[in-house]
Amino acid sequence: EHRFAQFKLVLLGESAVGKSSIVQRFVKDSFSDFRESTIGAAFLTQTVDLDANTTVKFEIWDTAGQERYRSLASIYYRNAQAALVVYDITQESSLDKAKYWIKELQKQARGGIIIALVGNKTDLEQERKVSSEEAESFAKGLGLLYFEVSAKSGTGVRECFKQIALKMPIE
Ligand code: GDP
Ligand code: MG
Repeated sequence: EHRFAQFKLVLLGESAVGKSSIVQRFVKDSFSDFRESTIGAAFLTQTVDLDANTTVKFEIWDTAGQERYRSLASIYYRNAQAALVVYDITQESSLDKAKYWIKELQKQARGGIIIALVGNKTDLEQERKVSSEEAESFAKGLGLLYFEVSAKSGTGVRECFKQIALKMPIE
């Protein structure tokens, strides 16, 4: 018998860290260098097959990082069962913003929410400002999942969603 489960997943993080690009890579397996910034939030869906008998569908809310939308974000994360908190490995300040969102989730989101800290833009390794060790030890210290990805090359993106899917409570 085929098992099918669906979960709400929200993306949070500073503007321009690549949230929409990660979603575009995961949903359409494509990338564009000139993305229009997200207004409010965008909704997309994509499935992950965990094995021949198990499919997980993610209902994805891609939020806008701009200050003026910050208060709206809670509408999207309040009912989320999973969250990707994204930073840009070439922008130190974007990790601080990710830490802010993680705190916010821990205060306001549902109990049992699966949170992943995701460092994007690993194709820009030569411009890296945040070490993997720093970010990973922060994430692991809080019991969060941790991934590094590149929406541009696609490296790590599917694996990140698959690992989250594996953590979801499927009856
Ligand atoms: P958002 O505001 O967090 O949704 O970020 P966007 O997805 O709109 O991306 C912001 C900018 O970063 C765009 O110019 C993207 O093309 C670029 N970008 C996103 N992901 C990557 C990546 O993995 N590598 C590189 N080099 N650029 C990226
Ligand atoms: Mg966006």
